[in-house]
Amino acid sequence: MRVAIIGAGIAGLACARRLRDAGLEATLFDKSRGVGGRLATRRADPARPEVTFDHGATHFTARSEGFTRLVAAWETAGLAARWPAAGADSWVGTPTMTAPLKALADDLDVRLSRPVTALTKSRAGWTLQSEAKRLGTYDAAVIAIPAEQAAPLLSLHDFEMARAAMSVRYNPCWTGMLAFDQQIDELPDFLRGAGFLATAARDSAKPGRAPGERWVVQADWAWSEAHLSCDSASVAPSLLAELGKAAGREMPAPSHISAHRWLFAQPSGQDQKLLWNPALSLGACGDWLHHGFAEYAWLSGHVLGAAIAAGAAQ
Ligand SMILES: Cc1cc2nc3c(=O)[nH]c(=O)nc-3n(C[C@H](O)[C@H](O)[C@H](O)COP(=O)(O)OP(=O)(O)OC[C@H]3O[C@@H](n4cnc5c(N)ncnc54)[C@H](O)[C@@H]3O)c2cc1C
Repeated sequence: MRVAIIGAGIAGLACARRLRDAGLEATLFDKSRGVGGRLATRRADPARPEVTFDHGATHFTARSEGFTRLVAAWETAGLAARWPAAGADSWVGTPTMTAPLKALADDLDVRLSRPVTALTKSRAGWTLQSEAKRLGTYDAAVIAIPAEQAAPLLSLHDFEMARAAMSVRYNPCWTGMLAFDQQIDELPDFLRGAGFLATAARDSAKPGRAPGERWVVQADWAWSEAHLSCDSASVAPSLLAELGKAAGREMPAPSHISAHRWLFAQPSGQDQKLLWNPALSLGACGDWLHHGFAEYAWLSGHVLGAAIAAGAAQ
């Protein structure tokens, strides 16, 4: 069985790995230039590639059995480490958040810079298209992208699945990336709920990072929503000022300041874990089907891969 997976975030990668372990063929398509989705790392300065910001998820948990085993293997391989600053069971990828995702993608068939814009079903199977270009025909299709983007692809084929996707609501998040030439001694490495900042993380304090003083600050949902139409040049100074309030001092001039707007940061609304229509060989996975966290996105992809493999073995 040849399975096409749209989306190479942690859910799509988990599904592909599970299928590969069962001896099935999986091909991943992602619109981005790299894997990992919202487990994202940005390089601010091309001349200094070691200077990074984890501007998506700041950390993740590992509580369930299968994911704990995987994270332990990442730790042994130097791809993840505990980061107690964010909580007793918090982990980060090392040296970047995307590092373990790249390892997960290793030796999988991943096709990058391929936005899937259409999915059609014929007797030959599922055909994927990127604008006018055909990407291939597969026996089964898995949609592992955020619900807002999944809904239009699903709606032509399975109304119940599309309805599940349409019922999900996402919270946006304005994220600031700040670097300074001096240490901000007044602040701990991680704080929550400081003014309108949901979290503020000293990114440079995470294990395996290049030295320096780098911060990733995430505005809360209400503030992000209220400032959705603002541009990053006007939002970034507000995020800097809010960090200054938390520190109780005026912040020094940053050596780097930028902001990223996540329209679909974290979802709420569904807890079905996975969607799988065996008659159509069409499935969906992702954090929107479980909980809006990396571990649950992985679980969603993993259990969908297991369900497809079980069906193929019958
Ligand atoms: C600001 C922020 C803070 C967060 N904080 C935390 C946290 O502290 N802890 C935690 O556990 N989680 C956190 N999360 C959530 C976590 O990042 C997600 O739950 C998880 O990464 C979702 O994985 P996924 O594979 O379901 O989706 P994604 O990571 O979104 O992956 C989907 C992939 O699909 C691709 N794609 C989309 N449309 C198409 C298309 N048409 N064709 C091809 N490819 C497509 C995208 O490029 C992407 O790579 C945070 C997220 C954000 C944004």
